[in-house]
Amino acid sequence: MTRSKGVALVTGSAQGIGRAIAIRLARDGFDVALNDLPVKNAVLEDLAAELRRGEESEGSYSPRTCIVVGDVSKEDEVKRMIDTVVDELGSLDVMVANAGIAAVTDILTESVENWERTMTVNVTSTFLCYKYSAMQMVKQGRGGRIIGASSVVGKQASAGSLSYSTSKFAVRGLTQAAALQLGRNGITVNSYAPGAIETPMLAGLRAQDVKQDVRVQKAIDASAVGYIGQPEYIASAVSYLASKEAHFITGKLLIQHVPNAN
Ligand code: NAD
Repeated sequence: MTRSKGVALVTGSAQGIGRAIAIRLARDGFDVALNDLPVKNAVLEDLAAELRRGEESEGSYSPRTCIVVGDVSKEDEVKRMIDTVVDELGSLDVMVANAGIAAVTDILTESVENWERTMTVNVTSTFLCYKYSAMQMVKQGRGGRIIGASSVVGKQASAGSLSYSTSKFAVRGLTQAAALQLGRNGITVNSYAPGAIETPMLAGLRAQDVKQDVRVQKAIDASAVGYIGQPEYIASAVSYLASKEAHFITGKLLIQHVPNAN
């Protein structure tokens, strides 16, 4: 593989699902821009070097990479991120608005502070990433792929994830509305909706609340497949949504393993 398939930007790509998506899209032949908070800059540098060396890549395409640290819940940082990607890599063809945060909260314990932070990081950031990537893709005039991170609790809420569920419902609405508007521009907009996936986020939730282990086990038992997810399983679905052949799929929430939540 010698020609790039285009430029993909993955937010929150220093770890977990975002990291797996960045590795997969590089393997698929995209040039990859990596975003995360400034504190993760060194991790992104290491990942970018790995992608260029193709250590975790099976294909022969050696991607160009670019690192754009910044807080994606801030409008000026999202604008700067996208301008930098276009300046350094030439275009933006796939936007993966993956960054997010989670905490165990319920209606009796939720604080306004945590509620607002969750909405800002999970909803405002996704809106900003969708908006500024869509503007760039419309300007380029050759379509594109916009993909966001919702969750299985963005379709069916759970009592212990009050603000988180609400924020992921919002990502679903945002995805549908954007998909309806952008379809005629050849831009598809979809979101992935993982259940429990083994990442630092899930480890953090388990550390925050011992009951989380029981909840995760219940979710696994209720799933069709009966085992916990790995970041690579989400990355493979994103790989398809990002591909040219997925042009007829838009406005969808992709839940991979919980039949009764579709
Ligand atoms: P994670 O916490 O392991 O990684 C998220 C990354 O996003 C971190 O590196 C973090 O620094 C970064 N980030 C957070 N806020 C940011 C900001 N404002 N700007 C830039 N980067 C920021 O999470 P994960 O488990 O890999 O989850 C990735 C996405 O998938 C999230 O949106 C999450 O809500 C969603 N999701 C995860 C699961 C799961 O079980 N792990 C389930 C459903 C949905």
